[in-house]
Amino acid sequence: MTFEKIPYKIYLSEQEMPQTWYNVRADMKTKPAPLLNPGTGEAMGFEDLRPVFCDELIRQELDNDTREIPIPAEIRDFYKMYRPSPLVRAYCLEEKLQTPAKIYYKFEGNNTSGSHKLNSAIAQAYYAKQQGLKGVTTETGAGQWGTALSMACAYLGLDCKVYMVKVSYEQKPFRREVMRTYGAAVTPSPSMETEIGKKILAEHPGTTGSLGCAISEAVEAAAANPGYRYVLGSVLNQVLLHQSIIGLETKAALDKYGVVPDIIIGCAGGGSNLGGLISPFMGEKLRGEKDYRIIAVEPASCPSFTRGRFTYDFCDTGMVCPLAKMYTLGSGFIPSANHAGGLRYHGMSPVLSQLYHDGYMEAVSVEQTKVFEAAEAFARVEGILPAPESSHAIRVAIDEAIKCKETGEEKTIVFGLTGTGYFDMVAYEKFHNGEMTDYIPTDAELQQSFDKLPRVPGLD
Ligand SMILES: *Cc1c(COP(=O)(O)O)cnc(C)c1O
Repeated sequence: MTFEKIPYKIYLSEQEMPQTWYNVRADMKTKPAPLLNPGTGEAMGFEDLRPVFCDELIRQELDNDTREIPIPAEIRDFYKMYRPSPLVRAYCLEEKLQTPAKIYYKFEGNNTSGSHKLNSAIAQAYYAKQQGLKGVTTETGAGQWGTALSMACAYLGLDCKVYMVKVSYEQKPFRREVMRTYGAAVTPSPSMETEIGKKILAEHPGTTGSLGCAISEAVEAAAANPGYRYVLGSVLNQVLLHQSIIGLETKAALDKYGVVPDIIIGCAGGGSNLGGLISPFMGEKLRGEKDYRIIAVEPASCPSFTRGRFTYDFCDTGMVCPLAKMYTLGSGFIPSANHAGGLRYHGMSPVLSQLYHDGYMEAVSVEQTKVFEAAEAFARVEGILPAPESSHAIRVAIDEAIKCKETGEEKTIVFGLTGTGYFDMVAYEKFHNGEMTDYIPTDAELQQSFDKLPRVPGLD
């Protein structure tokens, strides 16, 4: 094949957009472990999950076998409002680093919510609407997921109730107002609206909340209100499925020019963007067709993959959710106030956890000042103001490109640029003023949290 000069941005046409999502579980020899009922230790089936989740989404959650799942036409139409997203050749960054490496990034920040989360928000809202529900409840930390979901719900005419971690609610009033602009009801969590919120407030008066705690509230609110279900923006198998659109588009764009990546890098909070980006490449790897180095990047302050345990744990602090087998720091682990809010989750996608456990991918943790150094270097040459979460991937992409400079290797690096950082300027300000710290939990702190991991009936 002849290699054409590769354009700065590789766009797909609407016709070239994927028509199906790819379910990587179909190609996994060891499937991710099932969700368990914390009371009985039994695997949760369709009927067990129905009070909380939408029917079609449960089917997707439990489906470990169907390789390709059609994207409904209505969802594809919504995707066309902001997709296909560009795959950018980072010529300017390569030049700046003087590296022989070829760097590409898939930019998912090109929509109002400012992140990839809209890809799953529209799918989840669509299936809720199809089922004739009135609305959905959810939690949001930094606010990207809540924003994405409120946009999707506004589009489809669904009610949207968001429990926003109190510290973000107070510190990120702009995010909150974007959600309200799209019609969502936003409640700071923990709140007095739910039993679990009251209990947490009684035990920890003055707490500024956590993602795990907001999840407990949103789940309770969904179960208590007829016509409502709970939706989650990361971690779950269904979310990785929807996010496979990122990887499918990336692969289609690279294939157009005969480019084969050597290294694929993504930041990992609950694992949805990384899981989506790597899925078609991981599929080839699992089927033994190709090999790629795949690297998950997490904050040193919340190192689920690199220092966590691979075990069953609660997805939430309130311990009302099912148990998931994943790399976890313990559901009681409250990470220090890291500025990458979207990466402050104690657990990790069960799909990625299994793949990591089986040796199909690597993980590294990075300190936040190093992350912001990379963010700023990137912004100055590539123009885009990256989200702190996304900048974790930038950091490691730059590190790998610098290694190539030392060895003279012309590796092709692809990384996921998940979003923009316009609402994170307080973090950038701290960095510029030299006030940013790099908190790393001690082994003793992690041990304290591991000691509280649940004992699963029948598994001990
Ligand atoms: C939520 C978020 C993340 C992390 O979530 P994953 O599920 O791990 O992808 C990363 N980047 C941005 C911009 C986010 O909003």
